[in-house]
Amino acid sequence: MLFNTLGLSAPLLKAIKEQGYSEPTPIQKQSIPVILDRKDILAGAQTGTGKTAGFTLPILELLSRARDSKSKPHHIKALILTPTRELAAQVGESVALYGKFLPFKSCVIFGGVKINPQIAQLRKGMDIVIATPGRLLDHVSQKTIDLSKVDFLVLDEADRMLDMGFINDIRKILEILPKQRQNLLFSATYSDEIKKLSDRLLNSPTLIEV
Ligand code: AMP
Repeated sequence: MLFNTLGLSAPLLKAIKEQGYSEPTPIQKQSIPVILDRKDILAGAQTGTGKTAGFTLPILELLSRARDSKSKPHHIKALILTPTRELAAQVGESVALYGKFLPFKSCVIFGGVKINPQIAQLRKGMDIVIATPGRLLDHVSQKTIDLSKVDFLVLDEADRMLDMGFINDIRKILEILPKQRQNLLFSATYSDEIKKLSDRLLNSPTLIEV
């Protein structure tokens, strides 16, 4: 199977080609069409399976289908939550890489560094934000981030987020997001906690196992 049968448009196929990927990984084959179909997913996938491209590519595709004019202002349409700053940075790099031929702006928001440069970045207008939960909530309480237009929420490595005690932060974030949105939950393991979170978060999710 080739990438060009999955419903991705030319700017993404070009970026994929530059990466030298010859075919989609199993998780990408399953997740990309389902996400393009606007369904919620619950995906069991470890790091190294290509899960990042599995959600990044279809989100970029849907954002580009929704954007009819190049002069549109940037609003945060996609929010990707990760447990650690390392993962946030890594996902941020993937978003920039796969989206290099598209007009979207993205930034990474995590704690342990000064908040002011992040505020300056957010002021410029972003389409995609990759964040760890605690620092994201700092921006929410300082009113330096507008999440009222979020269409896509990704919880990446959700099991690790729960292990690290982020459940209350995640709850707070869910409360302020628009109710109408697409939710993608990735977790390497299934526990009762993940089940509870997915029951609360996902609408008739498609289950993906690799
Ligand atoms: P991830 O599981 O998202 O952390 O990705 C693991 C690695 O696989 C990353 O270094 C990607 O660049 C690489 N990768 C993702 N998709 C593909 C693909 N379709 N073919 C080859 N490598 C890939």
